[in-house]
Parts: sequence; structure tokens; C-alpha cells
Amino acid sequence: MSAPAPATGRGHPRPRLAVSSCLLGAPVRYNGGHSRDRFLTDQLSRHVDWVPVCPEMEIGLGAPRPTLRLLTDGRLVTKDGSADHTAAMTRLAEERIPLLEGLDGYVLKSRSPSCGLRNLPRYAPGSPDGHDDGRPADRRGRGLFADLICDALPELPAEEDGRLRDPRLREHFIERVFAQARLRELFSGGWRPRDLVEFHGRHKMQLLAHAPVGYRETGRIVAQAGARDPAELEADYRRAFTAALAVRADRGRHVNALQHVLGFVSGRLDAVRRRDILAAIEAYHCGRAPLSVPIALLRHHAEGEGLGYLSRQTYLDPFPADLFAHRP
Ligand code: SF4
Repeated sequence: MSAPAPATGRGHPRPRLAVSSCLLGAPVRYNGGHSRDRFLTDQLSRHVDWVPVCPEMEIGLGAPRPTLRLLTDGRLVTKDGSADHTAAMTRLAEERIPLLEGLDGYVLKSRSPSCGLRNLPRYAPGSPDGHDDGRPADRRGRGLFADLICDALPELPAEEDGRLRDPRLREHFIERVFAQARLRELFSGGWRPRDLVEFHGRHKMQLLAHAPVGYRETGRIVAQAGARDPAELEADYRRAFTAALAVRADRGRHVNALQHVLGFVSGRLDAVRRRDILAAIEAYHCGRAPLSVPIALLRHHAEGEGLGYLSRQTYLDPFPADLFAHRP
């Protein structure tokens, strides 16, 4: 079982993330260099613990080393075709799966035939001596190590460094990672039905914003707590919860969730304050204000009115605030 995730500011857990080592600045790339990513090393590092993984170094290739490429038949070979590392990489992935299973996410280096998640060039196997004409047959490949890990651990949030430069994709990934850490914390000890009920209660608005179907499904599972085998119930809830949060919340679903939150606080507010919040939700709806504006207003009123159920909603505080100046 995993250890509970230690807190990081305002009660947020401290997620544990696997990461392609080169993204943290380790000189492990094929040319002896690195691909340090400032968001990871300077911002996210303050709130998470890293588990660096360089699959090519771990199978003993060293740095510098010959560049690798993916073939359309699924093999991972050196560019000149002189060595095939498919079996070694497959063995490494199988060994690493138990370690990665207990983590809350994985940040992978894009465009790597070992770590990349999408759109990798793949080459036809070419002539019998392993050479080809140098042009990719397609760009539908996934790095071999990443592919094996993601197939074995479909619930593990995984994203590439390049995509994390998009504010919306970045926010979604960070939100999933912190939710995953809270889930790990919940299930890391002997949980009781009331722990699950409390956990689910805190995540209702967040689930609603991401996937109304998943919101209802998780609710049905929680209603069976105490009446079903705990291990089966845990597995079902884990699957439904992670699948719901894997759906990206769009503007319409955020507006729906914001209106639900407003419904809880509305009776405590006078007409002017209600109008202010409605105006902030509308401004977000039209793209004139970031999500952080109505969220900040609702959180302020939930805390000010002492509405514990509402102020504990993870939707209003899904991750440490300093990770984003404004939520997109
Ligand atoms: S992309 Fe992956 S295999 Fe390549 S240097 Fe980085 S961690 Fe190592």
C-alpha cells in the first residue's frame, strides 16, 4: 500500500510524480545534454516529489549514445539499425510498473522514441540489414517505454512537457494529479465507508464540472459503501473517479458547476452580492474573465458565510494557488 501523501500548503497533498529525467536537467540525453523544463523545476517542484526515470540510461545505453528510432513493427532500434533494444526496454517497463503504480502522475519528454506519448515518427523496417531510406512511414508512434507503461496503468495521469505549455492542458493535468494524490491518501490505510462518503462529498462539484455522467456513477458507487466488498468497491470508485477527472471540463460544464455552487450560497446573500457573482459567471461564460474570478468570489462567500460543505469543495481549491496566476 502507498504511504499517505504529505500535505503541501493549505492542506493540499504532495503528489509523487514520475518524470523523464532529462526534464529535470539531468544530462542523460543521447547527446549528453538535458531538456530542463522551468515550469517543472522552478514551480511544480515546490509542491510535488519527483521520481526521475530515464529508460535509455536504465537499460545501460549511457550518454552520449546513438539515437534510437521506432519501427512500424513495434521495435526500438538504433538509427543505423545495428542494435535492437526492444526486449531490454520491455523488460525494464515490466520491472518499473509496480513502482509507477503507486504514483500520482507521469510527465514525459515529447518526441522521444522511448518517452514520447504521441505523434512519434515510425519507420518501415527497411532492408534485411536493418537500413531504410530515412523517411518515416507515419507519425502515429508512441515511445516504447511510455506505451508499455500507459497500457499497463491506464488510470495514471500522463502528459508530455510540450503539451504542458498549453495553460488549459497544464491546468487539467495538475488538477488530475492532485486529485489522484488525495485518492491515494484516502485508500492508503484502512478506509471506512464514512471516509469515502466524506471524500466524495468534497469532490462532487469537481466531478460535476468534468463529467456529469461520472459524477452520477461515482455517486451510485458511494451509495453502496458498507453493503459491498470493500476491495471491489474501492476498485470501482477508483476507476470511475479517475475516468471522470480525465475528461477535460469545458466552459459550459464549468458554468453549470459554478451555478450549482451559487445555489448553495445564494440564500445567504443579498441581491447585490448575488448579482456580482452571476455577473462574474457570465463574464467567464463569454470569455471576458478567467475561471479564477467566479471561483474566488464563490470561495470568499462560502468561507465568509461559514458554509463548511461548500468551502471544503475541491472544485474551489483543486491545487496550490501559486501554480497558476489565473486559471484559464
Ligand atoms: S527522453 Fe526519456 S530516454 Fe530520452 S533522455 Fe529523456 S528520460 Fe532519457
